[in-house]
Amino acid sequence: MKITKVEPFIVHCPISEIADSFNQTAVYGMPGVFIETDAGIIGTGYTGTLGNGDDLIRDAIERYYASVLLGQDPFNVKKIWHELFWSKLHWVGRAGVATMAQAAVDIALWDIMARVAEKPLWQLLGGDKPKQIKSYNTHGGWLNKSVEELLTDMKWCIDQGWTGVKMKVGKSNPREDYERVRAVRKAIGPDIDLMIDVNQTWDFNTAMTWGKRLEEFTPMWLEEPMHPDDIRSHRLLAQELNTPIALGEHLYTKFAFRDYIEQQAVEYVQVDVTRVAGITEWLQVAGLAACYNLPVVPHIGDMMQIQQHLVAATPNAPMLECIPWAVDAFVHPVTVKEGFIQTPQEPGAGTAIRADFLAKHRVR
Ligand code: MG
Repeated sequence: MKITKVEPFIVHCPISEIADSFNQTAVYGMPGVFIETDAGIIGTGYTGTLGNGDDLIRDAIERYYASVLLGQDPFNVKKIWHELFWSKLHWVGRAGVATMAQAAVDIALWDIMARVAEKPLWQLLGGDKPKQIKSYNTHGGWLNKSVEELLTDMKWCIDQGWTGVKMKVGKSNPREDYERVRAVRKAIGPDIDLMIDVNQTWDFNTAMTWGKRLEEFTPMWLEEPMHPDDIRSHRLLAQELNTPIALGEHLYTKFAFRDYIEQQAVEYVQVDVTRVAGITEWLQVAGLAACYNLPVVPHIGDMMQIQQHLVAATPNAPMLECIPWAVDAFVHPVTVKEGFIQTPQEPGAGTAIRADFLAKHRVR
């Protein structure tokens, strides 16, 4: 089988406006690629953005990766991965745009392989039978919501059957965060898992002080408390807190995960298939986490479509995040019932985009 065509795309899914401590958006961006073969099979891969930088990712695929791909057998996915990782883009981008563009390509190749095998990706990866994947809901806890809205949305999540919810913190005054978390814990009761996500913006002293104070509300984890390059501070914080540290959505290589894990600075490994360079790299990070007996609970830059397959085939991945921003985009959207994702039965990686959605939301 040979790759005959590489067609990058950008899709923007409109969403209701959300904010965390450093992002604000009304768009979920999907820059990606269609990869066509001489067997007539088309694989789809994409990465996830908040609508910025999509053009850079598309250009990376078009101008640097397409020429590497044409004529290759998609089943040589590891050889291709290696060639892309050491592409001419390497000099200017070993993380971010380069690995996210590579993720889109790698996912499209795995989609092709699963389609040829006529299996859902989770089966191709060794999953034995359909599974109910536990999920927790992030969509009820954005930072731009008032306390009243927060409580309404959390109640809705619990009424729908979720037993875990995430809320954002990182207000300019941490006392306000403390009050918001207190209100949520009081409203949801002691038995619902509560994840707290800072989105990187605390400095070391803020993290030590307020990370400790928030332990009163028994969070399941404290997520991305500080800048993701600062392993040392996360190590010290992890030593100090009973609350486990979760992070990984801004780590782009297995080496970055190795350093965090080796230094005991992360306890929930949130590797995201759309940030590391695709499924090939994701599987290595999950294996690395297994060596340290650590759970993988992915950040969902893919809006669950791909990582539901990866989690279903990974014994040390007990749970997946849930944000419903892209369910209208896909031919076979992820299905979540009472907080559990039902593993898909259709062949492929779950990435095929609806033609009508593409016609309406493709960015030219
Ligand atoms: Mg996060």
